[in-house]
Amino acid sequence: MEKIGIFGGSFNPPHLGHVHAARYAALSLGLDRLMLIPSGKTPCKPVPELTASPEQRIKMLSIAFGSVPIAEVSSMELDRGGESYTWETVQQIREGNPEAELFLLLGTDMFLKFPQWVDADKLCGEVTLVSMNRGEKGERENLIRAAARIEGMGGKTVLLDNPVKSISSSQVRRLLAFEGADSFLPEGVLSYIRREKLYYVGADLKNLPMERLEQVVVSLLKANRVKHVLGCRDTAVELAKAWGADPVDAGRAGLLHDITKALDGELQLTLCGAYGKLLDDFSRKYPKTLHALTGSLVARRIFGENNAVVSAIEFHTTGKADMSLLEAIIYVADYMEPNRDFPGVERLRELAYTDIRGALKLGLEMTLEHLKEQGGEVSPASRQALDYLNR
Ligand code: FE
Ligand code: FE
Repeated sequence: MEKIGIFGGSFNPPHLGHVHAARYAALSLGLDRLMLIPSGKTPCKPVPELTASPEQRIKMLSIAFGSVPIAEVSSMELDRGGESYTWETVQQIREGNPEAELFLLLGTDMFLKFPQWVDADKLCGEVTLVSMNRGEKGERENLIRAAARIEGMGGKTVLLDNPVKSISSSQVRRLLAFEGADSFLPEGVLSYIRREKLYYVGADLKNLPMERLEQVVVSLLKANRVKHVLGCRDTAVELAKAWGADPVDAGRAGLLHDITKALDGELQLTLCGAYGKLLDDFSRKYPKTLHALTGSLVARRIFGENNAVVSAIEFHTTGKADMSLLEAIIYVADYMEPNRDFPGVERLRELAYTDIRGALKLGLEMTLEHLKEQGGEVSPASRQALDYLNR
């Protein structure tokens, strides 16, 4: 009996995580055909540069899977138009292949949610559900539980244990904009993206007018961080006006301060590697704190910001000895912008307009206190910042 693997997704863009996982699935399941099916609707993005057209996604898929002989790209979901429903896709494939054994390849996140799909019962009768491990930790138990539920619904399951790069298309899009995605994409796909100027690759993002900068920044943030960043920007501008710093620099630094925050620790390290940046021991041990450093690198290299802005971003989490007025303003604005809510924030807000250095000191002290409670390690830069203010 012919075995057909069905692998759907937005593939915006297809990356090495997709290729490795699908290849592993094809080998372990003994597939005869592997159908790659880009989905009709991709989540709306505010900026068109971040979404490749259907034709471009198809092209990138054929390039990415060019070395997999059993792979074929199908435009059936795009041709159907509108929202893509897996059940319709499976029915369509079934009609053309009444005898074949069908395998639906899913990332772990999709596999875990499968029992709640509207068409889960019907799908269980037609396909074997395959979970492709994308490398997330601590999910094994949940996968086994989901598999049991699916089998309870009469479905067949396979849990693959493939060692693959843990990366998503949205993270790849960010890394592309930051010029750090090379290790996650097949070479051919990367050159195609460069040629077609997709995902901000080849776009000149230096010295953008404020409004456009905001648009680009928002498109690269996670949705739940946008409010904080805009709040920080507004607060930084107000503080700059109050204290006689440059409000334009303050606004730009506020907008860009968390630009790389969506990248997890591992991707922070990847970006540092791509930029040829050597790290100190503290950063290597706590890569999550790296977003301040990588944010400053991106602010300079991609957005062409000046030294004052770059340095305010670099020290917005840890502080440092002898901070400039703008550095202090960004540190404090990040701490007390209107969306922040914690005991002591009102005191900080008052102090910010009467004694900015006092506010900076209070922020640093609160951070130290918090880290002490959590049993965390204080960065040497924060210690030096406080020592300097206490001298
Ligand atoms: Fe931050
Ligand atoms: Fe922040």
